[in-house]
Amino acid sequence: MSDLAIRIEAHALANAVKYGGKAQPGNVLPKIIGEFPDAKKDIPGLRAQIEGVLASVNALAPDAQRARLGEIGADLLEKKAAKERDLPELPNAVRGKVVTRLPPEPSKYNHLGHALTFSINSLYARRYDGRLVLRFEDANPEKVSQEYVDAMLDDIQGYLGIRVDEIRYVSDDMEILYAAARRLIAQGDAYMCSCERETVSENRRLGRECACRDRDPAQSERLWEEFVAGRYLDGQYVLRLKGDMKSKNSVMLDPVLFRAVATPHFRVGTRYKAWPLYDLYSPIEEDLCKVTHVIRSNEFDLRIELHKRLQDALGLPRQEIVHYGRFNIRDATTKGREIRELIESGQYLGWDDPRLVTLKALRRRGIRKEAYEMLAKQLGLSPYPVNLDFSMLAALNRELVEPIAHRYSFIEDPREIAIAGAPHEEVTLHLHPSRKDGGRTLRVAGRYLVRAEDHAQFGAQPIRLKDHLTFERAGEGYAFVAKEVGARKFSLNVNWLPADPSQHMRATIMMPDATLRHGLVEHGMTSARVDDIVQFERLGFCRLDAIEDGVYRFWYTHD
Ligand SMILES: [Zn+2]
Repeated sequence: MSDLAIRIEAHALANAVKYGGKAQPGNVLPKIIGEFPDAKKDIPGLRAQIEGVLASVNALAPDAQRARLGEIGADLLEKKAAKERDLPELPNAVRGKVVTRLPPEPSKYNHLGHALTFSINSLYARRYDGRLVLRFEDANPEKVSQEYVDAMLDDIQGYLGIRVDEIRYVSDDMEILYAAARRLIAQGDAYMCSCERETVSENRRLGRECACRDRDPAQSERLWEEFVAGRYLDGQYVLRLKGDMKSKNSVMLDPVLFRAVATPHFRVGTRYKAWPLYDLYSPIEEDLCKVTHVIRSNEFDLRIELHKRLQDALGLPRQEIVHYGRFNIRDATTKGREIRELIESGQYLGWDDPRLVTLKALRRRGIRKEAYEMLAKQLGLSPYPVNLDFSMLAALNRELVEPIAHRYSFIEDPREIAIAGAPHEEVTLHLHPSRKDGGRTLRVAGRYLVRAEDHAQFGAQPIRLKDHLTFERAGEGYAFVAKEVGARKFSLNVNWLPADPSQHMRATIMMPDATLRHGLVEHGMTSARVDDIVQFERLGFCRLDAIEDGVYRFWYTHD
């Protein structure tokens, strides 16, 4: 398609989205002429082309119009002000009765995508004066650990500040889950299967049921009790649901419900030798947690049918299911195994490496918890996949920190200059340009430090030390010109520090690419506290991470 054709379609879609699904030809024509002035040469031809596009655009459902517009003309999507954005209402939500849940598997560190899911569920629980359950889905002893539980508790409660009404562990409900398995077996809904992997694959391909399925329930019951006692830790048997081997939905092809695991579990040790799979415990746990609304990404679409089948077999209630498009993280790896390898090989600093979008890293860089809720509201449960990157979070975080962050200078690679005739005095600078209420006092005495990068550009024109004075070259040195701005036109406006060592101190900044920048900052920064966000002028926002041996260590947040 030509550029012109794409823009006609994009403007038609934007117009349709704006006017209730039906675009008007008169609205599209001037937009196209504005972008393609040459198109004026053949107005009747252009009008005909637009009308053809409009007919197909107007035939689309509103959701599809919006999605297509996102693909070909995202610049035309209307941008609502941050305050107006919010999540849609939940279906059948009753104030005071809504229960939502956060169900992490403690087998990895949480990242930006998890924070959005947590925020969505937390926002809904609060909106309806409901409850929020944090459920650790720790049913895979080979992958789960206390390390991840601790990290997640710290992420969710400590960092994101999410108020959780109840904390549960699937491993606490094993007797209930075993009872469910026995019931499924007794009802003839599940069977012990000993087929080899190849046989299972072949049966699935051919839509064929295996011989174990016809086993007498009494024999499956005996095998189950042996299985639970740890007799088949070699993996000889699994418990399978009698699904539908002819189903087009792959998860319905007699899925495994329980498997034998010899690895000790971090909470219950070797007490249990048979562990449930997600598809079995999920519908049971939703009931135990009294969840009313399951809000999650549509990666779970296929599982709805299976969960309903289990709910019916076990007499469990249904929940309202609300699915939204999955979050794709675009600019950082989120694969636990890959990250672990990068850490173990020494290429990454740890789970909080600034190149990652783990919550550990984002917290250390200075992303405020409010930014996640703002982003969740902005995305608004779109059914389409959302590509997320750090910049989207940074844009919202900037709105939060810009009004409060104190301004300072960071002088990297300092060069000392002497300015003849400069006043010796105490200078007061502002912590924030819009408040002009002072707060920074520096004693100056004619000698200054400036960045090497700025120093290299000093020419014949006067130069200004920001918010302080103007000077110019005089012979081999420099001479004072004026304190006021405007006394003489200046070519550069540079950050500076007094050269007197009592007036500055050392600082480092951990940059987003994990390189460390070294520099000097004003002595008055001793008033900053760990966790404060400051803005280094002409560099960006940074979070004070630690003060070690008099060195102020910052992490770069964003520009
Ligand atoms: Zn079998």
